[in-house]
Amino acid sequence: MLAVKFRRQVEFLNLKRVNQQHQNEIAKTMTQVLSSGTYIRGEATRVFENKFAEYIGVKHCIGVGNGLDALRLIIRAYICLGKLKKGDSILIPHNTFIASVLAAVEEGLVPILVPPNPDTHGIDTHQLQAFMKENTKAIMPVHLYGLACFSEQLQAFIDQHNLLVIEDNAQAVGATYQGRKTGALGHAAGVSFYPTKNLGALGDGGAVLTDDPELAKMVRILSNYGSEEKYLHQYKGINSRLDEVQAAVLTVKLKYLNAHNHFRNVVAQCYMREIKNPFIALPTLLEDRKHVWHLFVVRSPYRDELQQYLQQNRVNTLIHYPTLISEQEAFKELKDQYCPTTAKLQGEILSLPMSPVIYLEDVEYVVGLLNAFRPSLR
Ligand SMILES: *Cc1c(COP(=O)(O)O)cnc(C)c1O
Repeated sequence: MLAVKFRRQVEFLNLKRVNQQHQNEIAKTMTQVLSSGTYIRGEATRVFENKFAEYIGVKHCIGVGNGLDALRLIIRAYICLGKLKKGDSILIPHNTFIASVLAAVEEGLVPILVPPNPDTHGIDTHQLQAFMKENTKAIMPVHLYGLACFSEQLQAFIDQHNLLVIEDNAQAVGATYQGRKTGALGHAAGVSFYPTKNLGALGDGGAVLTDDPELAKMVRILSNYGSEEKYLHQYKGINSRLDEVQAAVLTVKLKYLNAHNHFRNVVAQCYMREIKNPFIALPTLLEDRKHVWHLFVVRSPYRDELQQYLQQNRVNTLIHYPTLISEQEAFKELKDQYCPTTAKLQGEILSLPMSPVIYLEDVEYVVGLLNAFRPSLR
């Protein structure tokens, strides 16, 4: 085995380095916010909302507190507008982060967990019909790991059943499907600017994207205590706003998003080209879409052993996600939605180090380890 005693750790993601690249610009813009005297819903937020809407290719962007709230606000707004009602069901991929499901449940929708396609990790379009119910009114495609989860079959299914499409675009900002960006593929999208995301703030942040002016207006009202005019409350809203500091930082980081995503792609191509091991399956690439590699997820039937081996050789990896939503204590009511496909996938997935600041030398080191990996006989 390779000598690793004095080798530096290969971190999964060094966030400090991601942001320190832009230290001067970030410090400058934060100082400007400081001296502006406006800290919520001012010029910095307006500027960011416009730039981000333009980047994605939608008409409206509303900055909100985080990605979970973005999804919640979309659903709540549709309920206020009479397009959804409490008790309606929504199709959601089973293998997503808990926020997707939590948003639906918190707003009174009934989640129907649909198995993923094990190759793409996206919702399995072929199984949608079997999961449809009479009261299914919406679908939440999750562009998991940075790959657009969309297809002509999915669009046809959506059209056939007249479903509202609420994209969870927390992991795929900058990704495309047939030339269009994720976040502009459905009726509305929720985005997260959690620091580890491809476009990350220095704290919590999120956004709602849509072309629908009515929905945009309602989300803006609901995110600000249900109030359009100060101290007059038409709806029972929440307090979930993007603050000026985060908006200003995000405007700086948006300028570098394409470069960051490009570097992620360089790293991914290196992994794709060089990892050659029959015990490790690589992610699937699709021609009509651009992956932004929020996570680089391989699969192995010997995953636990592989992860341990990498850890022993100073390489950090993670599992996204280690516990099925239907197995979470918080979701006892979803226990009967246990899904063997998701469970099998959960046991095989492993996220390799990936970031816009990883050293290519470290990538080569990880590749070497992966190619040398052999499961022990059992
Ligand atoms: C991060 C994430 C969210 C939630 O975003 P927060 O800003 O942390 O609330 C939702 N869905 C997915 C798939 C995510 O990865």
